[in-house]
Amino acid sequence: MIEHRFDAVIVGAGGAGLRAATELAGLHVAVVSKLYPPRSHTGAAQGGIGAALGNLEEDHPEWHTFDTIKGGDYLVDQDAADLMCQEAVETVYELEHWGLPFDRTPDGLIAQRRFGGHTRNFGEGPVRRACHAADRTGHMILQTLYQQCLKHGVHFFDEFQMLDLLIEDGRCHGLVAYEIDTGELHTFHAKAVLLATGGFGRIFKVTSNAHALTGDGVAIPWRRGLPLEDMEFFQFHPTGIYKLGILLSEAARGEGAVLINGKGERFMERYAPTLKDLAPRDMISRFMHMEIREGRGIEGKDYLHLDFRHLGKDIIAQKLPDITEFVRVYLGIDPTREPVPIQPTAHYAMGGVPTNNDGQVIMDERNTPVAGLYAAGECACVSVHGANRLGTNSLVDILVFGRRAGRHIARTVRESDLVAGRANPGSAVAAEIRDLLARTEGESVAAIRAALQEEMMARASVFRTGGDLTSALETIQTLKERYRRAKIDDRGRRFNTDLLEALELGFLLDLAEATVASALNRTESRGAHFREDFPNRDDANWLKHTLIYRRRDGYEFRYKPVVITRFQPKERKY
Ligand SMILES: Cc1cc2nc3c(=O)[nH]c(=O)nc-3n(C[C@H](O)[C@H](O)[C@H](O)COP(=O)(O)OP(=O)(O)OC[C@H]3O[C@@H](n4cnc5c(N)ncnc54)[C@H](O)[C@@H]3O)c2cc1C
Repeated sequence: MIEHRFDAVIVGAGGAGLRAATELAGLHVAVVSKLYPPRSHTGAAQGGIGAALGNLEEDHPEWHTFDTIKGGDYLVDQDAADLMCQEAVETVYELEHWGLPFDRTPDGLIAQRRFGGHTRNFGEGPVRRACHAADRTGHMILQTLYQQCLKHGVHFFDEFQMLDLLIEDGRCHGLVAYEIDTGELHTFHAKAVLLATGGFGRIFKVTSNAHALTGDGVAIPWRRGLPLEDMEFFQFHPTGIYKLGILLSEAARGEGAVLINGKGERFMERYAPTLKDLAPRDMISRFMHMEIREGRGIEGKDYLHLDFRHLGKDIIAQKLPDITEFVRVYLGIDPTREPVPIQPTAHYAMGGVPTNNDGQVIMDERNTPVAGLYAAGECACVSVHGANRLGTNSLVDILVFGRRAGRHIARTVRESDLVAGRANPGSAVAAEIRDLLARTEGESVAAIRAALQEEMMARASVFRTGGDLTSALETIQTLKERYRRAKIDDRGRRFNTDLLEALELGFLLDLAEATVASALNRTESRGAHFREDFPNRDDANWLKHTLIYRRRDGYEFRYKPVVITRFQPKERKY
């Protein structure tokens, strides 16, 4: 076991982790990342980052706050959304000053485009709020932040995978990580740990999420007795490439592309007369499934079309170059001539590790912080997205709350001393790895993962029922049994991806379980969680956040009130 001591360790080198790291320059800080930093999923973000700059038309942070709350079906904590939308403006200018090559207006200002659910004057019509660099906005953000980190001398441990957290008596002392190149275990002792490990879309079969998005940093604190918040809310993005799930950004519809059913109709005009194809994602995904169920899929099949043809070659080449290239490469279709087959794809986890507005992880419904433990980005739940996130709001969230967490950590570590945690901290992980490597009989990890992803897609995606969720939970229990007997083939020490995929499947199984159990528990429909057996929103009983705890004989649910400041819940119409 190799030991390290740092003031703070950040786990994850996506936008949230790197933005926090830039606040900690001057302290003894490490970033531990299982991927080489610029490979983080933030780099795949396409369409834009929302901020009410008002560069092309009137806009205000208050309008952005309202849209975020309404888009989240009123499960958003309004104080947090207010902070996010106010601070979005300065975080975007900060990126501009660090050299991010945003697209420009003819006057040289940052260009902005339309995106789903973003409106002017509290819902009157679409507004241009998404700042963008073609359809490579996340790539530019990640490169810009990585440069800042290198400039400030942040210490990187690339291709190190966290496998455990050291938490004792309500305090975090550090973590255990596996060095992928050597197979060696490392203990990092630290005054503060920030989880910034991203999402877990890989619990589903059809997803826009990269292979590495297995939710390690969400599953580990749950295993260590901490709660997860609002796990029942998982967003499906309307426009994934059919069967592959690869994302075609909402920027496409922001620039004017439209959804078409098998009868050639722009069906969204019927469901959302004001915003049409730019209604929020939860609603569009649901309406797409309804069109398909009622026989109006393309040729009666289970997909619809996204039509770019009327946009013209120039707009497509300038504003949407990457996604139209994906269509050419993966489907062999030229989107300037033919409509593109699409279906909803699992995209974003609204739930995750609960935190307060400074990124401190909390352990209960009274918001008691876990000393020394922070979370930011997609792995965290602040909650600014409530039951459904608006497009462009994740890039805002990772930067605003990455920055806030970094600032809080900087203050805390200056005032505190490093405390030694328990003896022999890596023993549990070492035993798990030894056990996996020792098994010579058993079925493959890949078969169990495929079965999990199929089950989640079939029974816990856009439409849910109590019966389906109950049977999904039973399937997950069976798969967990099978997982305990699964074997891997590679017994080597260097780059043993077989071993890591097995450990990641363990995380996926836990997160699928937390998702399905929370979905079964919430007997209403809100945002991305749609129960056919409880089709209405039920504010009297369910205007509250779920906290799910893992207990020896099952789960415990507790509830946290939603913070409501200015906007009383209303029916959502678009
Ligand atoms: C295709 C696509 C397009 C998107 N487009 C947009 C968009 O236009 N606008 C928008 O607002 N949002 C968009 N999103 C969502 C947004 O990109 C993500 O939610 C956000 O970037 C997540 O950032 P993050 O910093 O939390 O995590 P990530 O960027 O996912 O980074 C996670 C980091 O954690 C590390 N990590 C994970 N597990 C471990 C472990 N066990 N040990 C060590 N390190 C670990 C990884 O190495 C990685 O560095 C998009 C998402 C996708 C998938």
